[in-house]
Amino acid sequence: MQITDCHIHIQPVDMFKAGPLEVMKKARGHYEDILEYCRSPKALLKYLDSIGVERAVLINYVAPETMGFTHEVNQWVADYCKENPKRLLSCGSVHPRHSLNVQAEMDNLVRLGIRLIKIHPPHQLLYANDYLNGVKELETIYRAAEANGIPVMIHTGTSIFPAARNKFGDPIYLDDVAVDFPKLKILMAHGGRPIWMHTAFFLLRRHKNVHLDISGIPPKILLKYFPRVKEIAHKTLFGTDFPSPGIPTIEQNLEQFKALELPEQVKEQILSKTALEMWPG
Ligand SMILES: [Zn+2]
Repeated sequence: MQITDCHIHIQPVDMFKAGPLEVMKKARGHYEDILEYCRSPKALLKYLDSIGVERAVLINYVAPETMGFTHEVNQWVADYCKENPKRLLSCGSVHPRHSLNVQAEMDNLVRLGIRLIKIHPPHQLLYANDYLNGVKELETIYRAAEANGIPVMIHTGTSIFPAARNKFGDPIYLDDVAVDFPKLKILMAHGGRPIWMHTAFFLLRRHKNVHLDISGIPPKILLKYFPRVKEIAHKTLFGTDFPSPGIPTIEQNLEQFKALELPEQVKEQILSKTALEMWPG
């Protein structure tokens, strides 16, 4: 089975602002290992080999106010993934309020071969459907992603980083996006945890184009959060959110997930098949 972790944060550490960097450092043992993975794709691949993970999607996004990341993350992650583009899948972003030419930046992401676009409402300080409230750039992003067959991951649920605004984390705003961009593959990160799981599950059942990334949910309580996950297994992807606070290792999440009382084919679907459908090869 080819396991994909659809959500790990391998980022240009130098760009972190002091506040969020402190959160990361405090929350983690083995901080040196994380730094090494961020510096060296070879080191990351070696780690993935050691735990039986074939592919990883490397989440990067522009969030200058809250995290410090600028649009340079896109070139950075594209270069990083050149080491092995079959196994390292790049995720980049365009920030509606920090881009002079959203269309040109989206064209650039396509040129760079970016495999996933990230929208992070609580860190980018906007609602996922704000194109209905005058943020037309957001519509440009969704249109370009839809036209180029690039999935868009939208963070849902809370964030504990100092400047995050959690009202933006309610998944209900994805409802408009799913209706207005029916061919866009939407990947709902974290299933609205820990407060909006009912909304998340409703949207997953309602919309064909909405998928679930279980990262950030401790696998041990996945069935408590999503008791009917079996029904949406065909659109659910395994992810960890490593190395965010609260996720010590990828392998611990993997073990916990594998130990869940779910049919083997459901586990295989979530660990492997859904991601292979979303990013074949
Ligand atoms: Zn994340």
